[in-house]
Amino acid sequence: MIDHCMKCHADFRGHTTCPRCGGDLTSILESAQQQDNARNQAFAALAHGDLHAAQQAAERQKTSSLDPNASVFADYFRGQFER
Ligand SMILES: [Zn+2]
Repeated sequence: MIDHCMKCHADFRGHTTCPRCGGDLTSILESAQQQDNARNQAFAALAHGDLHAAQQAAERQKTSSLDPNASVFADYFRGQFER
């Protein structure tokens, strides 16, 4: 979960605008929420043994993500198919 401003790295938990630089953080928070949802869906699909659905959720997370680790997550699922 993102809890720091992407511009100035101020802690903005509980705010939708950055208390330091005034940046609008709504889109960042929505993106983070979408990532969390996609990640949860991926793990849920994995728990049911549905690798295909897990990979689709991981790819959704990757495309909506600001986090470079998200591509690692998606690549992991892709690797599961290519074994
Ligand atoms: Zn800021």
